[in-house]
Amino acid sequence: MSSKTIYQEVILDHNRKPRNYGSLDQPSHHAIGHNPLCGDRIDLGLDMTNNQINQIAFHGESCAICKASASMMTTAVKGKSPEEAEVLIQEFRNMVMGTLNLSDHHHLGRLAVFEGVRDLPTRVKCAILPWHTLHAALHSVSSISTEANEEVSQTSAISV
Ligand code: ZN
Repeated sequence: MSSKTIYQEVILDHNRKPRNYGSLDQPSHHAIGHNPLCGDRIDLGLDMTNNQINQIAFHGESCAICKASASMMTTAVKGKSPEEAEVLIQEFRNMVMGTLNLSDHHHLGRLAVFEGVRDLPTRVKCAILPWHTLHAALHSVSSISTEANEEVSQTSAISV
């Protein structure tokens, strides 16, 4: 299978059967992320004990790319420390922004299927939104928008 086919298969699979979909009763960390350009809205909660993400769940209205990204993200960070999660956030962001060389050492594993998103400028924010939301939750920021919290480098890269 080509990487493009794998990408489509993974997106379809996670969109059809999102992992960790739902909400936690009493999350220790929680944030809502919004991407006005597409209409994606992600509600993310997680339960941190002993410096480990023990439970994580998301729900909301989002397009297939955003939902698949959220689904794979929750799977990837479950059991990880916040520091390990931040590494993944950074690497995922750099990958879809096109500044990560995947042949260099990284921790993304199957998340690398999202590499192709870098060639779809309008979908970059859809893929990144769950990761921004996780970053916000880990820093006790209750809500974020892709249109308000962007760094200059990101905005310019997306508006190409
Ligand atoms: Zn979207």
